[in-house]
Amino acid sequence: MKWNELLIRYGELSLKGRNRSFFVRRLKNNIAAAMRDLPSVEIKAERDRMFLIANDDYDMEEAIKRLPYIFGIQSFSPVAKCDATMEAIYSKALEVMESVETEGKTFKVEIRRTDKSFPYVTHELQQMIGSHVLSNFSELIVQVKKPEITLNVEIRSEGAFLTAKVFEGAKGMPIGSNGKTLLMLSGGIDSPVAGYLMMKRGVSIDAIHFESPPFTSELAKQKVIDLAEKLSSFGSTVRLHVIPFTELQQTIVHKVPDSASMTTTRRIMMQIADKVRIETEALAIVTGESLGQVASQTLESLTAINAVTSTPVLRPLIALDKLDIIDIAQQIGTYDISIRPYEDCCTIFTPAKPKTKPKLEKITYYESFTDFDSLIEEAVKERVVYDLPLKKKDDFDAFL
Ligand code: ATP
Ligand code: MG
Repeated sequence: MKWNELLIRYGELSLKGRNRSFFVRRLKNNIAAAMRDLPSVEIKAERDRMFLIANDDYDMEEAIKRLPYIFGIQSFSPVAKCDATMEAIYSKALEVMESVETEGKTFKVEIRRTDKSFPYVTHELQQMIGSHVLSNFSELIVQVKKPEITLNVEIRSEGAFLTAKVFEGAKGMPIGSNGKTLLMLSGGIDSPVAGYLMMKRGVSIDAIHFESPPFTSELAKQKVIDLAEKLSSFGSTVRLHVIPFTELQQTIVHKVPDSASMTTTRRIMMQIADKVRIETEALAIVTGESLGQVASQTLESLTAINAVTSTPVLRPLIALDKLDIIDIAQQIGTYDISIRPYEDCCTIFTPAKPKTKPKLEKITYYESFTDFDSLIEEAVKERVVYDLPLKKKDDFDAFL
């Protein structure tokens, strides 16, 4: 079946009032960026929908593979074009219906007639095309309210455009439409999922990772680079800041009692993240914390960690179950990277019995004997930056 266009529906964006054109422009730019190596693709944005036109079959197939990963799209449909004559429309309607599963399905025809000079009015067209399809697909059951298949026929001056197949979009909002955040990215299962969920709400991300060589290996760092790269396939370049954390971590182990060391580690990570956030002009910090999952993720712990900054700390996984987080990780392709067996700095330095209900006054008291500030400044300065570009075309197949 040869498709001429892809019809893209916005979903939530359609609810935007005066800001809609800003969101639509952002979506158009993001789609253009994802298709930039497909020369025959052209994008036309309208108020409530967008068209992607590809004058090359291969590019059309590629575009269909890539669209499900672009946030801000509710659904999309391949559209076939024919002459605006009843004969051509009848024959194209059957072809388009062949492309969907019709057995025992409910069905209706919907008409959009932008060319008002066309000789038949809407309800006549609905009737005529509907009975033609039904006489060829006798298994279909007509249903006007919420049918499983809708054959959309649009009559424009340049021809008739037909579609019946609907692909799910990634939903959410176009990346970049809601600013930038800094994601604290460990090598674990949770933080990449947190990054994905924030990207889905339209934010672009920088990522920050703390490593403690030689206690953590090159392979542990590679895992984080691979995770950041995977996130970049959702439509945003990702800049990863890797912070040398060994000296700080050893200082914590020596100077802070075991029961408090994990909380202090988190607090110092948060302070470093906040400094990098300011430099990168991100507006919030994102973590993969989920309530009750481990000792550092009780409300008491989160309170003690949060006390180091007034910057919003976004925790999109806070109320999710681990199994649901794993489900998302598998769907987005980060799970297999996350379960590679290389330990990160927290796992290695975690004391046997961390306090699950740390008291903020006690923690600040224990920390008060050591000058962490200069070590923090130095760690920020010594960070190494990796730029992960948008995923290239060849990588998309492997990702599907
Ligand atoms: P994850 O699966 O994301 O590693 P986790 O369940 O292992 O999370 P913790 O180890 O308590 O939980 O980490 C909580 C959050 O702190 C992580 O989701 C991440 O956002 C951040 N974090 C932990 N370790 C690091 C690290 N080495 N570098 C950057 N961020 C980290
Ligand atoms: Mg972890």
